[in-house]
Amino acid sequence: PRQFFVGGNFKMNGSVEAIKKIIGNLNSADLDPKTEVVIAPPALYLLLTREHLKPGIEVAAQNVFDKPNGAFTGEISVDQLKDSNITWTLLGHSERRVILQEDDAFVASKTKAALDGGIGVIFCCGESLEQRESSKTIEVVTTQLRAIKEKIADWSKIVIAYEPIWAIGTGKVASTEQAQEVHAAIRAWLKKEVSDKVADETRIIYGGSVSEKNCKDLSKQPDIDGFLVGGASLKPAFTDIINSRL
Ligand code: 13P
Repeated sequence: PRQFFVGGNFKMNGSVEAIKKIIGNLNSADLDPKTEVVIAPPALYLLLTREHLKPGIEVAAQNVFDKPNGAFTGEISVDQLKDSNITWTLLGHSERRVILQEDDAFVASKTKAALDGGIGVIFCCGESLEQRESSKTIEVVTTQLRAIKEKIADWSKIVIAYEPIWAIGTGKVASTEQAQEVHAAIRAWLKKEVSDKVADETRIIYGGSVSEKNCKDLSKQPDIDGFLVGGASLKPAFTDIINSRL
């Protein structure tokens, strides 16, 4: 069975004080020991988070660059993350694809660099409302996945986050049926294009307006292996989402 996985994406939110408070909540909460938990604060707070957060909860960057070092102002390397005990990174989030104009090839190159360096990748994919309404959801998501498939061989350190753009930060969560349908299609794609084993073992998590209210039903779907939580990861109720399956 696939281990349930819950990520918290703080995005560009928080302060030293606010993040210490979130860490304090997590450190003292009763968390389901069967859930793998990873939080992704802004880069500036990665070290502080790793220093204060209890062992057993991992820390992710929200982005990483694909070059080892050098004249790349504003970027952070895989080795620098490892040096700081940061073991995961998000990549391909729609906010970076849309606002920062990252394309599939760039996201794939960064995914390869992270995996080659031994960092886990929470790889985000998902369609816009317009794409969903023109029945392009599966095509969009599999095109995003195909870009990484061409560059990587080992899928064991990838978690796929399906995040429909229309559900992010909108309060408009995908229905359990809508989410399950896409997750099942991603798993079928992995089976056909990669292997039975990768299809069977890869966690596919859902993101987009996940809350303590809607997480339980979503967590019961056969192909939903966890969540990538934005807004609610900043709140005490994040622990209820981590404990969805209790
Ligand atoms: P919200 O949970 O705030 O909708 O954000 C989802 C998300 O983008 C997580 O990466």
